[in-house]
Amino acid sequence: MALRITTLLFGILLISSDTALAQESAMKSNLNTPATIVVTLGTGTPNANPDRSGPATAVIVGDTPFLIDCGPGIVRRASEAAKKGVTALRVSNLKHLFITHLHSDHTVGLADLIFTPWVLDRMEPLQVYGPPGTKKMVDHIIAAYQEDIEIRVHGLEGANAHGYQVDVREIEPGLVFNEGGVKIQAFQVNHGSWKHAYGFRFQTPDRVVVVSGDTAPSQKLLDNAEGCDVLVHEVYSTAGFATRPPKWQAYHSKFHTSTAELAKIATQIKPKLLVLTHQLFWGTSEEDLLKEIQTLYDGKVVSADDLDVY
Ligand SMILES: [Zn+2]
Ligand SMILES: [Zn+2]
Repeated sequence: MALRITTLLFGILLISSDTALAQESAMKSNLNTPATIVVTLGTGTPNANPDRSGPATAVIVGDTPFLIDCGPGIVRRASEAAKKGVTALRVSNLKHLFITHLHSDHTVGLADLIFTPWVLDRMEPLQVYGPPGTKKMVDHIIAAYQEDIEIRVHGLEGANAHGYQVDVREIEPGLVFNEGGVKIQAFQVNHGSWKHAYGFRFQTPDRVVVVSGDTAPSQKLLDNAEGCDVLVHEVYSTAGFATRPPKWQAYHSKFHTSTAELAKIATQIKPKLLVLTHQLFWGTSEEDLLKEIQTLYDGKVVSADDLDVY
């Protein structure tokens, strides 16, 4: 179902039959908009696994990438994707970010996303949509880099004075973006003691993509994801969970979703494709994690790696 970007040079039309169909239907409807694709830029967790960058997903509509979360490594993963053929993810084109919640694993790449594309000639401010607290975080990051900004703008580098700036919109659940045929809705999810934690629903001219963010089972996700084309959902292994100390079992059952729970959720939602990300394996193999779902759910499901395209 997924195509590793290493084989993408031959063209994204080969990504999957579902995507090809979606592209065809977009063309037939004369929307003049290329098909929507999803790239899992970072499928990791707080664990510093070098094979899985921090949480970040891109929903790409035409040449516009919408980034969801900015875990560590996001800019280099985007650059890698661009190099291998997904040119919309070229670094100077990273301009829209949607933050699900302010857990550090989802946000420590924010300084990178503010400054690196600017140094590489992004001319416009970064547009950031995030929960309350996002503005304070951005202001502190900009303040922390004042010395760098001064030198780059006023020194011999002659950097532009706009590309490091950030337009922050602190959002509540509801419609948060509606431009160019793309509607993005934020909905509240159930992430333990976080007061503001969101999932996002993308309605593009040819697809509905839902990204769960970090969440335990949540009615709002069921309401917003029903019948979607792609559901990108976090998950932990039910077998791995059994090996965890009681303190961590208490935490994970309130903050995250097990394979058994996700199988039930997917059975209700019936996405055309379920993509597992932010996987917590705890010693379980990727194959066994998939089996945990597949024994309880008969729809299409894949366990994502970094730089998969759907
Ligand atoms: Zn997380
Ligand atoms: Zn979290």
